[in-house]
Amino acid sequence: MAVTGSQSAHSAHPADVPFIDLVAQHATIASEIHEAVDRVFASQSFILGENVTRFEEKAAAYCDSRDAIGCASGTDALILALMALDIGPGDEVITSAFTFFATASTIHRVGARPVFVDIDPVSMNLDPAKVEQAITPKTRAILPVHLFGQCADMEPLWRIAVRHGISLVEDAAQAIGAEYQGRRAGVLGEIGCFSFFPTKNLGGAGDGGMLSTDDHDLSRRLRRLRVHGDQGGYRHAEIGLNSRLDSLQAAVLEVKLAHLESWTEARRANARRYENLFTHYGLTDLVTVPRELPGHRHVYNQFTIRVKDGRRDALLASLKRDSIGAAIYYPI
Ligand SMILES: *Cc1c(COP(=O)(O)O)cnc(C)c1O
Repeated sequence: MAVTGSQSAHSAHPADVPFIDLVAQHATIASEIHEAVDRVFASQSFILGENVTRFEEKAAAYCDSRDAIGCASGTDALILALMALDIGPGDEVITSAFTFFATASTIHRVGARPVFVDIDPVSMNLDPAKVEQAITPKTRAILPVHLFGQCADMEPLWRIAVRHGISLVEDAAQAIGAEYQGRRAGVLGEIGCFSFFPTKNLGGAGDGGMLSTDDHDLSRRLRRLRVHGDQGGYRHAEIGLNSRLDSLQAAVLEVKLAHLESWTEARRANARRYENLFTHYGLTDLVTVPRELPGHRHVYNQFTIRVKDGRRDALLASLKRDSIGAAIYYPI
């Protein structure tokens, strides 16, 4: 179950704690956003172009990645990553059993078979020890998810991938800015997949996504795949998608990216505050708060607590009564 109130309250009742308050966040950057949007309209350049290139460069720098490639959504980022690795019918991809629908649906979408592996109950991320057991001759990739904003245990996963000659792709949709052993989400595998869905830590004004990679060939392939496989001059080398990041989205995201570090630090401070309060009020028997593991930087896309067996629904109802935003992640 996730409890937030990530930014300051902006609601009718002063005691209300909304689940997420994007209105309050927008109020702090409205004039910057309007100027950026006006510039895009003045240019009348809406598809890719310099706004997208500039954002890609800044986002790559933020993720410590050699390259970043904008696309239409986090879901498309996952599809494009699998396509760039030539994963398709007859192939298996190992992924987490505990994630948003798109992680597994995209594996199926490219014709491959998702193989679910259970999570570690503390990190809530893919358990590397169980991954090894799920490898078959058909396994082509491991697709861990950095759930709720904390990276999966990537080093053992990387070792397994290298040992078996398979790929490692990160579903980093919830984890922009998260770190593992000093390196950022998105450069811990061959390709990182990000989402700019409005409620993600870096959220656009609509759908958007991005891929990160240090591999020059993969980067070229991804850039081609997002424009119908066009390698220039209407010469289509392969069948790709129409999956581009809009210039308007890039302009909005560029403004917000400049604030991401301070927003992330605010999330982390709020998480520590919750942690202290749960301890202070002696609630740690009833709930388990998320733990930032050694060597990790958690970016708390959700502050997700575990509730003692049988008590969850009553707690959820009581939070609702007190107008404190909370939801079950994930109900199914
Ligand atoms: C949000 C999310 C996605 C999909 O991103 P969209 O931009 O909504 O398509 C994929 N995986 C995870 C774990 C997500 O949280």
